[in-house]
Amino acid sequence: MRYTSFVNIDRTPRNGTFTTCTNPGLQLALFFALTVTVLVFALTPRLAQGQITAIRAGHLIDPATGTAATNQIILVERDPERGTSEILEIGGDVVIPDGATVIDLSDQWVLPGLVDAHDHLGITYKEDPESWYYYFTVIMDSTPLRAIQSMSTGFQKLASGFTIVRDLGNNGLYADTALRQAIEMGWVPGPTMINSGIIIGAFGGQFHEIPEREDTVYPEYLNADTNDEIVKAIRRNIHYGAKVIKVCVDCQAYPYTVDQLKLFVSEAANAGQKVSGHVQTREGARRAIEAGLWSIDHDGALDPELHTLMAEKGIWRVGTETPQADWGRGMSDARYERRTTMMKDAFDQGVMMAFSTDADYYIEGMNRGELTIEFIKSWIDSGIPNAEILKIMTTNGYLISETEDTRGPIRVGFAADIIATAENPLDDINALRNVRFVMKDGMVFKQNGVVASLGFFNNGPRYGWRKR
Ligand SMILES: [Zn+2]
Repeated sequence: MRYTSFVNIDRTPRNGTFTTCTNPGLQLALFFALTVTVLVFALTPRLAQGQITAIRAGHLIDPATGTAATNQIILVERDPERGTSEILEIGGDVVIPDGATVIDLSDQWVLPGLVDAHDHLGITYKEDPESWYYYFTVIMDSTPLRAIQSMSTGFQKLASGFTIVRDLGNNGLYADTALRQAIEMGWVPGPTMINSGIIIGAFGGQFHEIPEREDTVYPEYLNADTNDEIVKAIRRNIHYGAKVIKVCVDCQAYPYTVDQLKLFVSEAANAGQKVSGHVQTREGARRAIEAGLWSIDHDGALDPELHTLMAEKGIWRVGTETPQADWGRGMSDARYERRTTMMKDAFDQGVMMAFSTDADYYIEGMNRGELTIEFIKSWIDSGIPNAEILKIMTTNGYLISETEDTRGPIRVGFAADIIATAENPLDDINALRNVRFVMKDGMVFKQNGVVASLGFFNNGPRYGWRKR
């Protein structure tokens, strides 16, 4: 209720109360009254307002250190007026307040939420009818339909424990922004979204168009060939709700130059944003590294020499490493061997690595969350230790998403995105295939392996409207 009152105070001058008052004594009295009112609201104990949940964690994992503490209590507050959450206390002897909801995870392994650093929630291409070619998906599916699909895929990923997703384009005309806003307004549940808006690329994007219909590249890609067009494309994306800029570095025979990529970086930085680069050639990767992009997405072009440069410059490796699996669409042993060998090389050289999938297609028998977690197979096959894989999927995920100071780690003062598994993922990362519990922003989304989320759906812009 206090927030409603703030709104009323804010509106008072517009109603004319202050603007028509010319008596200095009365003005002073009103000023003091306002100050006291604001202070009372600011100092009102949070506990009086929020909903408190106490989680009994049999084992509480800190992925940053690869350690687990036993028998911990995590006290979480959910603010129903703002849709926010805060971890209030963590410890072995935390006093559980009267009226708190107690969740017993004393037989489980509790850990922070997972991060997929590269997916496209508003697209799911498939064999029938597109022959695995998303150019046809783009032509056949409208942005409204894809926005609904993105809600569904986000929901499925959250059910598998993914509480943050970097959604890097291929979402029609800003279906990604729409989903982020809907989640933030409390209409639907979903992961925290770091979305890119439309992918910016040189003429043709990632498509092979025909001259008769060359504009079909839009809105899947924004053509930007000159410096002016690059600046305009970045500003347009940011205006329409992008939180990271996605560039197709070398999708055509005329890749961006180092100077152009530097322009991407500086123009994005002007709005406090980073640049994520789709890279598919070695020269493209070299240029992206020299220009100082935030992340290089896709692993195909990377090799030990480039890894050395990435480690030196602190550039993220977002490999989107598809595993060799029964459901795969054919990957040679040699290609997979190279993939896992390069992952291990990057790890050994100290390259900053993020878990990422690009899992934007349909595999029969699996939902999007189940498909996403399948990608741990590549990490296991690369020989990277379990605890390090978990750190990459959590701690590193918060860093690349730039939420590390507000959301991710289970730490006092942070938002409460918490998951739990039946087995210990530090011993066997496959434990993440069976996420039994998911809390998103202090609300239980999944418990005992069952998603029960009606409380996440609100009939209105409850936590604010027109969020940008
Ligand atoms: Zn992608």
